[in-house]
Parts: sequence; structure tokens; C-alpha cells
Amino acid sequence: MYKAFLIKYGEIGIKGKNRHLFEDALVKQIKNALKFVDGEFKVTKEQGRVYVEALSEFDYEETTAALKNVFGIVAFCPVMICDKTDIESLKENAVRFIEGSYPDKNFSFKVHTRRGDKHYPLDSMQISALLGEVLLEKFSELKVDVHNPEVMLEVEVRSRAFIYSQEIKGPGGMPVGTAGKAMLLLSGGIDSPVAGYMVAKRGVKIDAVYFHAPPYTSERAKQKVIDLAKIVSRYTGPIYLKVVNFTDIQMYIYEKCKHEELTIIMRRYMMRIAEYFANETQCIGLITGESIGQVASQTTQALAVTNAVCDMPVYRPLIAFDKQEIIDRAVKIGTYETSILPYEDCCTIFVAKHPVTKPQRKTIEKSEMKLSEKIDELVKNAIDTTETIIVRAQ
Ligand code: ATP
Ligand code: MG
Repeated sequence: MYKAFLIKYGEIGIKGKNRHLFEDALVKQIKNALKFVDGEFKVTKEQGRVYVEALSEFDYEETTAALKNVFGIVAFCPVMICDKTDIESLKENAVRFIEGSYPDKNFSFKVHTRRGDKHYPLDSMQISALLGEVLLEKFSELKVDVHNPEVMLEVEVRSRAFIYSQEIKGPGGMPVGTAGKAMLLLSGGIDSPVAGYMVAKRGVKIDAVYFHAPPYTSERAKQKVIDLAKIVSRYTGPIYLKVVNFTDIQMYIYEKCKHEELTIIMRRYMMRIAEYFANETQCIGLITGESIGQVASQTTQALAVTNAVCDMPVYRPLIAFDKQEIIDRAVKIGTYETSILPYEDCCTIFVAKHPVTKPQRKTIEKSEMKLSEKIDELVKNAIDTTETIIVRAQ
């Protein structure tokens, strides 16, 4: 019965001359999401509305699931399309719509009509009244309630007519591609995939970088990160994932610096290399999954010291979240099950028993001087041997 979806999107920030950019990005993202759905679709914008119309048989569940992942969609309505718009056809279709959509007819309703076609022989009030009348005749359990109807039957008459009454919630946010691109530091943990999701929800396209330390981190740990990127890419579109060989840098720091400073120094090198790639790929920010106080390397002092190596803004959307709040989101977006697979990440192997919790920038900078002999070469080598993997949802 439903042959189309009316897409509702937020109005904030999309007024004026940027509106068409927003709409075009939304159309593009919807098309991308529907590529993986069984069926053929046309996605169009007309008169300030975006529609998805099925051109073939399609899988309704798969389609609604895909639309629920498209940032920028506030809600969407499954729509019945009527090719004929004369009042007798509208009556027939309104009856068919209620029959098909509501097995139990014990509810109150109101018909709300909009006319795009001003030459139509009836005005919108008259159309609503006639359709209400025929529905009451046909289904005796129905009641009209013009103030607080349980079902609002929307009818739009243009060159064709659209009938709908149901609204399915979308994720909100802004379409990916409307807010530039940022580089996500993606580990195999719970937090960073959620951080990437949250920033992408505001319209930011995502690239990612993972620091791999073979043989201390296994192929399975790397695969886990790829799998996480795959899940995140359901929402963000394809992700260019850089896999950096971090072993030599890590070993060198381990050899030269105090063990309690290892993590913080390592984090600083991760940020430096991430920023290098970010600049190279036109990213204008970095994203991490850090949250104040979660671990020793995320105290406010440690965050300040980590942050000091970056010129680029670092987005930390989870900064004030409790772990449980992050977990709840990870479950919701579908990354949690993969994140908790037990493969080691490169930080857990070298962590000291008592890492510094209140590092001083001067002290850490001084420690890093001990690396001066080889570190530039190691960083260059890590950059030169980085592998780029294009990760897609399917
Ligand atoms: P996560 O759950 O995201 O792994 P975490 O709680 O384990 O976070 P840390 O290991 O201190 O926290 O890492 C903090 C942030 O640094 C991560 O959220 C991530 O953005 C980045 N990060 C840490 N390790 C790596 C890595 N191996 N590759 C890429 N980014 C990393
Ligand atoms: Mg981690």
C-alpha cells in the first residue's frame, strides 16, 4: 500500500541560501543508504519537501531501517500515492488507506488536507469534510475529534495525491557532508566509535586512523577496528581508514622514557600523526573518545598535555559522559557487541601499573627530548608505511 515516504527534516540552521545545499546532501545520503535495500527508488525534492518513491516492489522493513540511519531525517511518513485526484478516487483511497493501516478502527481521527493544485474544484476544508464523512459511513467505530485526534489523516493534493498518517522517528542531526570532514582516532574500544557517530550526526564526514602495533596487537584486533568502522559507516557513508604501524614508535618510547609516562607520550604521538593525516586529507578537526577522568590518560591535566601537540580543534563529544551513558549509546548504534570482543589494543600491553595522573606539560616535553635521536625518522616511517582501507557498510 505504501509506495513512498515523505521525509521530514529539521529547519534549524538550514534557512536562507544554504537550504538547497542541505537538501541536496540529504538526498545524496538517502540515495546512499537505499543502495543496500532490496528495491528501486527515486529520491526527489520538490516544493521544500524530500520524497522517496519506490519504483519497484521493495522491502518495507529494510527501507525503514535504512531511513532511520540517515542523519538529517527528523521523521518520515509512509505514504500512499493516488494517481487520480478526483474526489471519488480520493474517497476510495482514503477508505483503502484506513482499512489497510488500522486493523482496529476504534480511534478518533481528523482529516487535514493541503492543496498544491489551486485549480482543484473543492477547497481543502471541503475535501477534508467529504473524506471524513465517507470514513464515518464506512467504519462505524470511528469518531471525529478535531481538537485531539488519535489519528491525523494527512491528504495532499497536487498533480497526484498523497495520503499518510504515520510518522516514524529518524535520528535527527544534519546530513553527512554539510559540515566538513574530521579525522576520528578509532581504537577497538567502546568509546571512539560512539564519538565518531556523534560528530557525524552533526553533518561531519568521517575519516579514521587506527594505530596498530603488531605483533603486540593481532590481526584480529585490526579486523575488529575494521568491523567497527563498517558499523559506523552505516550512518556516515564510506570511511577511509588509515592503519598506522605504531610498534616501532611505541617500543622506542618504552625504551627511552619512564614507564609511567609511556601512555601519555604515546597518546601525543598518536595525535601528532592523526593531525598530519588530517591535514593531508582536508580534515578540519580531530575526534577522540576521551571522557574526563575515565582513565589516567584522561584526567583534565592529561587531556591538556595531550591536546598541546595539536593545532587543529579536537572534538571530544563524550567528554562529560559517564561510561554507562557511552555504553548505552554504543548498544543503540550497534557497536557495543563488537567493541567488547576481547582482542587487546595497543595501549593495554604497555600500560604501566601506576601511570602519571597529573602530568605537567614541561616535564613531558622534557621526557620527549630523550627521543630526539630517532623519533622523527620513526614517525616518517610510520607515515610512509600506513595502509589505507576504504570501509563500506556492505
Ligand atoms: P576507546 O574505548 O575509544 O578505546 P579508551 O577508553 O580505551 O577509549 P584510551 O585508550 O585512553 O581510551 O584512548 C582514548 C582515545 O584515544 C580513544 O577514544 C581513541 O579516540 C584514541 N585511541 C586510543 N588508542 C587508539 C588506537 N590504537 N588507535 C586509534 N585511536 C586510539
Ligand atoms: Mg582504548
